[in-house]
Amino acid sequence: MSTNLPPSGLHGDYTGSCVVCLNGTETAVAFEGEAEWVIAGFTVLGVMSDQSRATLAESAPERWQDGKVPAGRVTEAVRVCGDCAGRAGFPVGLIAAGVSLPGVVQP
Ligand SMILES: [Zn+2]
Repeated sequence: MSTNLPPSGLHGDYTGSCVVCLNGTETAVAFEGEAEWVIAGFTVLGVMSDQSRATLAESAPERWQDGKVPAGRVTEAVRVCGDCAGRAGFPVGLIAAGVSLPGVVQP
């Protein structure tokens, strides 16, 4: 699985907690694919569907306005701890400037 995801800095800062367990964490995973697929990925992580949309709208409000889903492929990173991501079978990477996060890419 190869991907060319932007470094975390492009999404601004990821201040906050794991979206699943709300514990503080310095790791995240990025999803790349169609918007509904990205939301499905969040759901697999353990985020409720409504919360997935809210989380995405918060991360990129210019693209996820008014609950609308952007067309085409998107790349969205979410802060999640290793334990929660591991339960869903997703990789996580340390959030650091200039370092690409591991990506879960829609086939
Ligand atoms: Zn967690």
